[in-house]
Amino acid sequence: MGSTLPPFFSYKKGILCCESIPLSEIAQSVGTPTYVYSTEALLQPLRELQSGLKGIDHLVCFAVKSNSNIAILNLLHQAGAGMDIVSGGELYRAKAAQVPSKKIIFSGVGKTQAEMRDALLSNILSFNIESDAELSALNQVALELNTHAHVALRYNPDVNPKTHPYISTGLKENKFGLDKNEIRSILDRMDSLKGIKLCGLSIHIGSQLVSLAPLEEAFTKLSSLITEVEKRFPHQLQWIDLGGGLAIRYHSEKPPSVQRYCQLIQKYFGPRSSLKRPMKIIIEPGRSLSGQAGILLSRVLYRKPRKKKDFLIVDAGMNDLLRPALYESYHEIVPIDQSLNRGRKKFTDVVGPVCESSDCFASNRPLHPQLDSGDLIALLSAGAYGFSMASNYNSRGRPAEVWIQNHQWKVIREREKFEDLVRLEKLC
Ligand SMILES: *Cc1c(COP(=O)(O)O)cnc(C)c1O
Repeated sequence: MGSTLPPFFSYKKGILCCESIPLSEIAQSVGTPTYVYSTEALLQPLRELQSGLKGIDHLVCFAVKSNSNIAILNLLHQAGAGMDIVSGGELYRAKAAQVPSKKIIFSGVGKTQAEMRDALLSNILSFNIESDAELSALNQVALELNTHAHVALRYNPDVNPKTHPYISTGLKENKFGLDKNEIRSILDRMDSLKGIKLCGLSIHIGSQLVSLAPLEEAFTKLSSLITEVEKRFPHQLQWIDLGGGLAIRYHSEKPPSVQRYCQLIQKYFGPRSSLKRPMKIIIEPGRSLSGQAGILLSRVLYRKPRKKKDFLIVDAGMNDLLRPALYESYHEIVPIDQSLNRGRKKFTDVVGPVCESSDCFASNRPLHPQLDSGDLIALLSAGAYGFSMASNYNSRGRPAEVWIQNHQWKVIREREKFEDLVRLEKLC
């Protein structure tokens, strides 16, 4: 197991840098824990997707929930991306990031009527509908506003994405999407839903998909559903939304390349596919754009030596990066000082200061025995579902966020202060 660094992170003169900026410089000025992002690393996979989908009318909608900082949303928007949102709060963020509403699609199983109203008034591109009851509610809200909603039905193709059960969404036992019979019965009453305009079909089978096989199975099933819908409502469908879910490398995974992913889309939905007529293709990548672009920079507080393995207590906690506690997920941990990356290693548990046993970033990780109080470390590939899942548990302010652009670093979100923690509370 080598600790290969993600693109745009490398040791220069013995110090780990993001693009050209030493992470120690950021820690010194902004403090720790801090999320640090490379804008080049954010843009590179977007450009790869856009060029891989050449020849297909397409829109890449970034999954806002993976990283919702408005600077990042704006950066991706300026590079041509739309947004995939799952709440009214994310709609607000997308608009604050100046993303045009016509490039916003609204996913999620539990949209409230207030959220539907806001999104309708904003004139978003599409609502991805996940249940019959939700569709009825949206129809009613649209009629009240004297308008109609553009809708894609989210199909649950019942394929096993072979990912962690918490991030699998395309099995029939998952709460997500509609099965074929549910879709058929919606089609039966489509004509009576005057507030709804059916424009598309969508799927999203899960996250961190390390193989294309389940996607290919889903694409096959989706293609036959497209044919069926086209028979009943010729020329009704305008776009097909293929979801997100492409994996990144956290540890030893070998995720499919963006190129191969795009080739698969071309095969099923491109100009030479068996589709009767070309349709716009939407994809909703989150992790594959933001995941490897960010690290969590943290400082070692204490080493606690034990016979078999030592504990390294760091100043980042599960409130800052929840994924290891929530999914037992792996994040590579490297010292910022390269000299602490060489030579003999000792099994170490890297833990945070939060009062929970699950506040553990790594167990039995071989790390340099000299790594100690004051040293800086980076938790790699923390750009997706990192800050966006952060909380204030243990009354800890959420970390600062910094990005590097054109050889300069900038704070894109200030560290939360104690005043921020109690701002909405009252002494009664
Ligand atoms: C979370 C989610 C995505 C993004 O998934 P990634 O694994 O981050 O690419 C896309 N579409 C929907 C509907 C989602 O819920």
